[in-house]
Amino acid sequence: MSKQKKYVYYFGGKKAEGKAEMKALLGGKGANLAEMVNIGLPVPAGFTISTEVCTAYYKNNKKYPKELEKQVKDALLNVEKQMGAKFGDLQNPLLLSVRSGARASMPGMMETILNVGLNNKTREALITKTKNPRFVYDSHRRLIQMYSDVVMEKAAGVEHGEGKGVRQQLENELHKMKEARRAHADTDLTADDLKELIEIYKAKVKEVLGKPFPEDPMEQLWGAVSAVFQSWMGKRAISYRRIEGIPDDWGTAVSVQSMVFGNMGDTSATGVAFTRNPATGENYFYGEWLPNAQGEDVVAGIRTPNPINEVGKSEHTAHLPSLETGMPATYKKLHGIQRLLEKHYRDMLDIEFTIQDGTLYMLQCRVGKRNGPAALKMALDMYKEKLITREEVIMRVQPAQLDELLHPIIDPVVELTTKAVAKGLPAGPGGASGQAVFSASDAVAWAKQGKKVILVRDETNPEDIEGMRAAQAILTARGGMTSHAALVARGWGKCCIVGAGSIKLNYDEKYFTVGNVTVKEGDWLTLNGSKGTVYLSELPMKKAAEDNPEFQAFLKLCDQVRKLKVRTNADTPEDAARARAFGAEGIGLFRTEHMFYGINSEEPLFKLRKMIHSNTEAERIAALTELFPHVKSDVKGTLAAMDGFPVTFRTIDPPLHEFVPTRVDEREKLAVSLGISLDELNKRADSLHENNPMMGHRGVRLGITYPEITEMQVRAIFEATAELLKEGKKPFPEIMIPVTCHENEIKHQYEIITKVHEEVCKKFGLKKIPHLTGTMIEIPRAALTADKIAEVAQFFSFGTNDLTQMAFGFSRDDIGGFLPEYLDQKILPEDPFQSIDLDSVGKLMEIATLGGRSTRPDLKVGICGEHGGEPKSVEFCHKIGLNYVSCSPYRVPIARLAAAQAVIKEIKNAKLSSKKTVTKKRTVVKKKSSKKK
Ligand code: ADP
Ligand code: MG
Ligand code: MG
Repeated sequence: MSKQKKYVYYFGGKKAEGKAEMKALLGGKGANLAEMVNIGLPVPAGFTISTEVCTAYYKNNKKYPKELEKQVKDALLNVEKQMGAKFGDLQNPLLLSVRSGARASMPGMMETILNVGLNNKTREALITKTKNPRFVYDSHRRLIQMYSDVVMEKAAGVEHGEGKGVRQQLENELHKMKEARRAHADTDLTADDLKELIEIYKAKVKEVLGKPFPEDPMEQLWGAVSAVFQSWMGKRAISYRRIEGIPDDWGTAVSVQSMVFGNMGDTSATGVAFTRNPATGENYFYGEWLPNAQGEDVVAGIRTPNPINEVGKSEHTAHLPSLETGMPATYKKLHGIQRLLEKHYRDMLDIEFTIQDGTLYMLQCRVGKRNGPAALKMALDMYKEKLITREEVIMRVQPAQLDELLHPIIDPVVELTTKAVAKGLPAGPGGASGQAVFSASDAVAWAKQGKKVILVRDETNPEDIEGMRAAQAILTARGGMTSHAALVARGWGKCCIVGAGSIKLNYDEKYFTVGNVTVKEGDWLTLNGSKGTVYLSELPMKKAAEDNPEFQAFLKLCDQVRKLKVRTNADTPEDAARARAFGAEGIGLFRTEHMFYGINSEEPLFKLRKMIHSNTEAERIAALTELFPHVKSDVKGTLAAMDGFPVTFRTIDPPLHEFVPTRVDEREKLAVSLGISLDELNKRADSLHENNPMMGHRGVRLGITYPEITEMQVRAIFEATAELLKEGKKPFPEIMIPVTCHENEIKHQYEIITKVHEEVCKKFGLKKIPHLTGTMIEIPRAALTADKIAEVAQFFSFGTNDLTQMAFGFSRDDIGGFLPEYLDQKILPEDPFQSIDLDSVGKLMEIATLGGRSTRPDLKVGICGEHGGEPKSVEFCHKIGLNYVSCSPYRVPIARLAAAQAVIKEIKNAKLSSKKTVTKKRTVVKKKSSKKK
């Protein structure tokens, strides 16, 4: 008989059928619950239904595999045995929670239902057993509230208008009851109040949903399980997966677990904590708790939670009771467990616990989300504590998190003299300003119009996710550091303040008040998410970062591991100096034409224009001679700033007509200086017009039709270098020819370069001036004929912007009309101008690298397109054996990290695949030997 497929995994007592490594099958929650059982922690017994059931359910028209029911029954029997209670029993009823758990954590995205198994009969049994009617009624009304919303309404696909859903309607009944009884908090309602409320709830459920609330515990259980599977395809889960890039077919697991109760009175409690502070990375136990409450209360921000210990108290929470002083023995136990867990997992964990009448239970643990600064600090600290290796340190900080450290903060000097209007908890780092909006949909709409907005809400929930994404920052009036808004913002590294209790919102009329100030929709706000302070008006921002010693220490570790060099694209001595501070090891792209734009460009630009409007070679040479000193001094300054490192100078690239003046007065001046009439000048300017300038007379084509242009630039480079050599410096120029498509082009330019080299050597009495001559590879033809081009070129640099433009046939200047739509409709999975398209541009790069090195094995190959600072593209460049990447100064640190991670990933993958072949070989051997028998 064939063995049944296993769908259900038990955990409880001293052992579990699962373990931490089984996340794909059991979901993060199920796998970690099993792991905690295995290491001997107090976890209420339960079982996990695997993600394969979810996948099968959706494949099979929402039907379960037939083995499932029996496996669930068997597992439930085990749970009942372990807990000494029976589900649905009328003497000693067991209650269950039904919890969702995907492979990657999706905070608040999926549904969890507590207190399953309660009805009018089982509750009486539970009252007799616990002698605590208030707690039992409270649990019962919670079940009805959650279940009717999640199972009967959402999972069933029932749609009500905003505020008309069953949960809101029951919420209203609760409020009415509280008002009638003059109760401040939920906990002020008596047992009798709650009992009455339950009947009101049931009537309301029937009225709103047209069906009675199910009394049968088994019906409740299966309803809840199905609802979790349904929620996987719910709107908010799908939208979260889109943003996080989680595939739809991973599926969710369902963990069914015995309930323990934090709402049994003042010796009971529930809480959420982190083994280190997730906002700063500081190494102390950090968390929040609530006495006499069930888990949802902490996260939902229904009551403001208390700090878990004394060290975690801030000026806002100093007056609140800590668990450490309130229940010292239990706290001590919890503290020990969190230390143990961190050692076991070797990472910062996020844990959930409940205390039932003085007894501690662990309900969840997972690797905790953290912002960039915290990720960096924790990784370095754990390295010092010898908890993790150098490679792990590097893998612990994501490139995007590093980017956060480079993100703006409010100018500290201005901030010092500005009065904050409100204070809240610092939930997401850095500073941000924007205009206030009060709904997620407004945030999305305003952002679409290019406006910067700050989303202001009482609290956020998963339905707000798109709006939170679109906003510069998030501000909530309620909730703690573990509230939904805080969790999501921290995950994204977005500026966020939660629990700013002094602001009072009015959604209908779109404003909030704080004290006697009113802030209307569209008013500017600035938030300091690291301090929790809110300011009126738009304050100036400052970049943070580069002198942060931890940032530098971390990048030094990356440098020890990476093989790719990291250069920068810089056109001025100032940019070059900044990039050096970020760790750039040279310049991969210096655009000569840059000196004709921006500040101090007037004089050189005028001379360039003279050259462009020259008609004869003599005229042109005269103009070039005037231009020469400008080019030379720019080159010299840059080489000096990068002393000891290579600098790649690209000869002039853009179509000349880009520099033709449009203003009449400028044209007149130019005509006078050239000694021609304005008419003649206009004629010459018109003749430069092209239909497709990007594919027209530009790049090397200019250097071939006007060799004197190349000659002037190259002479400037060599003379500047020679002078620096004489000054005892170590300049190293690399001359790069743009838009090459044929080897003859570069041969042509090479001759000029050689000739000028000789002349300058002679002039300065030098034997040679160290340099390289190479080309950009930015036209498919050049990539495909790289072997021939490398006969002359000593280096290649991929211009992936143009290469992408040419490979796709998309004009970079005209993609606005269609590319957003392409991405929305998933015609293209990703913007190819952001991340290298491996199927086309990547292939061309690989062909070119191999081709070039077949002719010239020591060919230096780099990249200087925008992609050079994008982590996935950097990884690819490492894979195909490039020598360096070059990117904008602010992306240099990200490229250094991505290059180091690429090495570590490569080693890991190599180990994995060698393991696979070993096990394969072994199985082959086994088969043979068993045949012999
Ligand atoms: P999420 O994935 O949103 O964190 P959980 O499944 O962790 O959802 O459930 C939310 C909260 O419900 C938990 O933090 C916990 O406090 C409470 N909870 C879940 N299962 C149980 C249980 N068996 N006993 C008591 N409380 C529970
Ligand atoms: Mg949880
Ligand atoms: Mg180009």
